[in-house]
Amino acid sequence: MPFVPSYRVLSRTGELGRRADALEAMLASCSICPHLCGNNRLLGELARCSSGALPVVSAYTPHFGEEPSLVGTNGVGNIFFGNCNLRCVYCQNYLISQNHREERKNEVTIDRLAGIMLELQGRGCHAIGLVSPTHFVPQIVRALDIAAGRGLDRPIVYNTNAYDSVEVLRLLDGVIDVYLPDLKYADDDMGEQYSKIKEYTRHARAALVEMHRQVGSDLLLGEDSFVKRGMIIRHLVLPNDIAGSKQSLGWVASTLGAHTTLSVMSQYFPTHAAVTMPLLDRKIREGEYHRVLASLERLGLDRGWIQDFEASECYKPEFDDRERPFKGESDNRI
Ligand code: SF4
Repeated sequence: MPFVPSYRVLSRTGELGRRADALEAMLASCSICPHLCGNNRLLGELARCSSGALPVVSAYTPHFGEEPSLVGTNGVGNIFFGNCNLRCVYCQNYLISQNHREERKNEVTIDRLAGIMLELQGRGCHAIGLVSPTHFVPQIVRALDIAAGRGLDRPIVYNTNAYDSVEVLRLLDGVIDVYLPDLKYADDDMGEQYSKIKEYTRHARAALVEMHRQVGSDLLLGEDSFVKRGMIIRHLVLPNDIAGSKQSLGWVASTLGAHTTLSVMSQYFPTHAAVTMPLLDRKIREGEYHRVLASLERLGLDRGWIQDFEASECYKPEFDDRERPFKGESDNRI
C-alpha cells in the first residue's frame, strides 16, 4: 500500500487547522522555542530569532546533500528558512541564518509557502525538507494544511538544530513524518560559548526524547526504499571535542536505545567567526574522528551512516558515496 502521511488525515478532519490555531496563538507572546522571548510577533516585534509573523524562505530546491535514504533519485525538496534561534559561530549558512535585515526581503505569505511545497512535489521530490524550521513552525503548519488540501502527499522532514520546545513538538505529533535533528553539544557551556544559547543540552535532549516518542527508532521505508517515517540524529564532530561526542553518543544509546539511527559527520570546516577562534579554526583530525567511531562501536550503536573522514579533507556539503551505512540500516518497509 502506498504511504499516506498522517498530516493528510489531520488536515481532512480539521485537526491540522486547530493545531495551526494553537501554534499561531503562541506567536502573540512568543514561546515557540525554549528562548521564550515573549514578544508579540503578530505585531512585528522581533526578538532573538529576528522573525516576525511571516515566514522567511531564503531558497528552495531539490537537494541531494542529505542522507542517501532521504535523497533518493530526485532529491529532497528542501525549503531553507531564513534566520535562526541559534547563533553558531561556525554556521555554514550564516549568510541566511544571521543576516535578518537582508532576509526580510525573502518574507513570503503563507499561501506562497504552501505553493512552494506543491512546486517541489511537482518537481518529483521524494519528501519536503524543512531546513531550520523551528522559529516558523506555526506558519509552516498553516501552509501545510493549505497544501494538503491542494494535494500535497510527500513526507515532511523536520531538519532542526534541536533547540525545540517540547510543547510545540507535541503539536507536531502526526504532522512531521521524519525528524532530522542535530545533537550539537553535551555540555551547556559549549552551547553558550559557540551557539550563544542557554541549556542547549537539556532542551535538545528533551526534544529528542519527544521526537523519539512520536516516531520511534525504526526507519520506515517505502516501496521506493526511501525513508517515510522515523528519526535520524545528526552529530557533527567538532575539533577539540567541543561537541562532546562520546557523551552525546552515550546518552543516545542509554536513553533512546542502541538501534537509534545516527548520521555521524566529519565535514566540519572553519567558517564565519570560527576562522579566528583558536579551538575551532581547523578541520578535525583523523584521530579525533576515529575515537568517535570507536565509541559508536563500543556503545553498540549500529544504525545509520558514517561520513568518511575524507569528506573533511575535501569538503563539499554533500552526503554522497563517501558516506557508508552502518551494518544495520532499518529494513522496515511499508
Ligand atoms: S521563536 Fe524566536 S521569538 Fe520565539 S521564542 Fe524562539 S527565538 Fe524567541
